[in-house]
Amino acid sequence: MNLQQKVKQTVQNYKLCNKKERVLVALSGGKDSTVTAYLLKKFGYNIEGFHIDLSMGKYSEKCLKAVQDLCKQLEIKLHIYDVKKEMGNSMCYLRSAIQSQKSLKNCAICGVIKKWIMNKEARKLKADKIATGHNLDDEAQTFLINVFKGSPDLSSNSGPITRNVGDKKFVSRIKPLFYIPEDDIKEYSKKMKLPVVYEKCPCAIDSYRIQVRKFMNTMPDKNKLNIVGNMEKLMKKIDRSPRDDSSKDDSGEPSGEPSGEPKDNEINYCEICGEPSRKKVCKMCELMKLK
Ligand code: AMP
Ligand code: ZN
Repeated sequence: MNLQQKVKQTVQNYKLCNKKERVLVALSGGKDSTVTAYLLKKFGYNIEGFHIDLSMGKYSEKCLKAVQDLCKQLEIKLHIYDVKKEMGNSMCYLRSAIQSQKSLKNCAICGVIKKWIMNKEARKLKADKIATGHNLDDEAQTFLINVFKGSPDLSSNSGPITRNVGDKKFVSRIKPLFYIPEDDIKEYSKKMKLPVVYEKCPCAIDSYRIQVRKFMNTMPDKNKLNIVGNMEKLMKKIDRSPRDDSSKDDSGEPSGEPSGEPKDNEINYCEICGEPSRKKVCKMCELMKLK
């Protein structure tokens, strides 16, 4: 099976979306989300693009340009969320303000902020689903990181589709590239000559994920598939109750939880911003609470 057929199979087998639904594809400008949008459009799904402009200088300018070119090529609508305009400052500034008081890594902070924005904006735009470009390598890394951190149950909401569909304020996230190795996606994006920024985010310098990626790159793709396959089997046996996705640490940073674990897994609403959260105050507001 080629990449396209494999992705189609994931979308169909896991019922990630149907043709009546409005799917917002979270476009970073990178190869994964670009290929996700390209294939969903090719399969005939009703997609629109959503880009968060982090205002991080030249890198952000290149990403914005790539996303605009892609949406033009695919003839889809593009929604842009300008962090500087909406939140008052660039991601670099927000991060340093937070880091002056909390010892958190770059990717951990950026990940929490991006997820909060995505859910809120997707709901505002009345999207049925948010599609992200997470691939097999990302997912296998996240599972291993959670195991190394001693909290494999953090992966219990992982899979090609989030399982927190029960909450009306939570927009389900789908990952059509869940079973596709990163290298195959890169090759495909080049073959299709898609507008992609191949350089990594300049701020992803201190990530624990980088260490795990290096270690995992010594493994064949078959082992990565085994990791996510076993994770899915294991997770069926662990608690699957709805959870706030922002409580899951996708960033790959060890620890860094701003506050303690909740007593239960029920989704509540953050008492500050009203977004779904397992705790009284969501991770985003916890970060933004600067003294
Ligand atoms: P990352 O955590 O940066 O590897 O990104 C994972 C996924 O989140 C990407 O494949 C995109 O779907 C989405 N994403 C990341 N950055 C952005 C962004 N600036 N704007 C919109 N979506 C993004
Ligand atoms: Zn909040």
